[in-house]
Amino acid sequence: MIPVTVFKDKQVALFGLGGSGLATAKALVAGGAKVTVFDDNPDSVAKAAAEGLHTADLHGIDWSAMSAFVLSPGVPLTHPKPHWSADLARAAGVEIIGDVELFVRERRAHAPDCPFIAITGTNGKSTTTALIAHILMASGRDTQLGGNIGTAVLTLDPPQADRFYVVECSSYQIDLAPTLNPSAGILLNLTPDHLDRHGTMQHYADVKERLVAGSDTAIIGMDDSYSALIADRVERSGRKVMRISRRQPVGEGLYADGACIMEAVGGEISLLADLDGITTLRGGHNAQNACAAIAACLAVGVSRDDIRAGLASFPGLKHRMQPVGRKGDVLFVNDSKATNADAAAPALSSYDNIYWIAGGLPKAGGIASLEPLFSRIAKAYLIGEAAPAFAATLGEAVPFEISGTLDRAVAHAAADAAASGKAAAVMLSPACASFDQYKNFEVRGDAFVSHVADIEGVTMLVEPKAGTK
Ligand code: ADP
Repeated sequence: MIPVTVFKDKQVALFGLGGSGLATAKALVAGGAKVTVFDDNPDSVAKAAAEGLHTADLHGIDWSAMSAFVLSPGVPLTHPKPHWSADLARAAGVEIIGDVELFVRERRAHAPDCPFIAITGTNGKSTTTALIAHILMASGRDTQLGGNIGTAVLTLDPPQADRFYVVECSSYQIDLAPTLNPSAGILLNLTPDHLDRHGTMQHYADVKERLVAGSDTAIIGMDDSYSALIADRVERSGRKVMRISRRQPVGEGLYADGACIMEAVGGEISLLADLDGITTLRGGHNAQNACAAIAACLAVGVSRDDIRAGLASFPGLKHRMQPVGRKGDVLFVNDSKATNADAAAPALSSYDNIYWIAGGLPKAGGIASLEPLFSRIAKAYLIGEAAPAFAATLGEAVPFEISGTLDRAVAHAAADAAASGKAAAVMLSPACASFDQYKNFEVRGDAFVSHVADIEGVTMLVEPKAGTK
């Protein structure tokens, strides 16, 4: 745990006791702050009280005595409307921050030079974060991996000079981190997502820009116009910028030429790494992630040989284009993490003769943007609330059935793929959130794996998780 000492002997209010909230409260207490915590869910409040935290309804506290208000990133700060606790803090003029900001201040106070890599973007954050951490660890460095990827940042080991931090940041976390200053900051890409929480695309982009604007080295994807403009602005502000692209050469930075990752420095171009044959980094989207990861590792002093070795041994992440089973020529691929159309596009681009399982809780825009990839789909199996809308978009272009549930979709897709007599992929890449039928995308992906394991004659490439159907 990282005890947060920067609020020692000061009063701090905290709202949001799910996930990282409890860990944050404990880190503040461990550092000597006087913390009052609350949540709209009485069970969470009772649990916090049972763990020895001071709980009180934040409607009734003396806000003028508070030095800061710590908000969980899951709680609305601005859109669709500010949570009542954020309104109270603002009315009292109390600054509103999150756990990443507490980490940043703690690092500044105790080990300002320890390497800190922060990663954001619409898609590819977790893959890039995991890849960087893997390269650092494989090269023998003391590496701490956390943030939005699942491990609350304040549960990591405390900052010290030779310790490397790799922290995935959602836009919500950046919004709550006004002095975020990583040694290397990555903005991978920007496409519409989470607009329910940010209002407009411009506001979403502005929030993401803050991560790279405060970085010693800013690593920015050039493959969408929002990010490209941000790179120019950050450069004009005097920061070092390394540009990355999966599509075209860049002046200074890294770009992909097919599976080859090229490095451009001072007008010289050289081959830095070849991703061909690294199955966990398949596809153009992963070339973008690899470029970003390599740039960050270079920025914090990792050798090119160590980078190449780390890329080659990357084990990949669950639920992201993960091959989970095989039966004859049919491969079963779990891409449950693809919760919007943009995230599903890479998987659809990487295979042919696809038996595509899609649907769930729909997001704005639906699957219309995937139309150029429809020719790769042999048949679609639609599940969840999005099924009728997706069926309307597919229309005459792609054969489909409304399967309704995942078990039926897997069984039908497996049978049809086998009957096609050709190499095929049965792929869950839903282009939707999971919340209409599952707790989250992980549970949905685990359920997919279990249903695949039920198919007669299938060879599993991963173990199904017990009790996940
Ligand atoms: P995030 O953490 O940003 O949600 P992940 O690394 O978990 O991203 O990847 C989620 C999905 O997004 C992957 O399954 C893949 O389909 C897609 N994806 C990954 N990287 C990229 C990228 N650089 N650009 C576009 N899509 C990507």
